Amino acid sequence: MSPPEPDLLARLRGLLALRQQELRALLQDAAEARASDHGTEVQDFKDVAAEESRAAIDDVALSHATTELAQVSAALRRMDEGSYGACQECGEQIDERRLLALPATPFCTACQADHERPGRGRRL
Ligand SMILES: [Zn+2]
Repeated sequence: MSPPEPDLLARLRGLLALRQQELRALLQDAAEARASDHGTEVQDFKDVAAEESRAAIDDVALSHATTELAQVSAALRRMDEGSYGACQECGEQIDERRLLALPATPFCTACQADHERPGRGRRL
C-alpha cells in the first residue's frame, strides 16, 4: 500500500489540528475550573460526596483527553516528518478508512488488536 494521497493527508491534518484545539481548550477549561474550585468553602456532606464523584469522572475524562492530545500531537509531528500513515509497530501503511476514523492512531488494525489483547501489557 502506498502512503496517503496529499489531499487525504491535508484532510487528516485538518481533523487532527481541530481535535488538538478542542482538547487543549478542554484541558485548559478543566485546569481553570479546578483552580477556582479551591476558592469554594462550606459544603454539607452530601455536596462533598457529589462533588467527589463528579471529580472522579472528570479525572477519567481528563486522563483520556490528555492521552488523546498526546496521540494527536504525535500524529501531527509524524505528518511533519513525513512518516504519518505508517504503523509505528510494524511499519505497514495503515488503511485509509482507519486513518479517517481515527486520524491519531499510531497503529494498524492488526497491531492495535495485538496491543489490546489482555495480558500483553504493552502500552502506547
Ligand atoms: Zn502494524
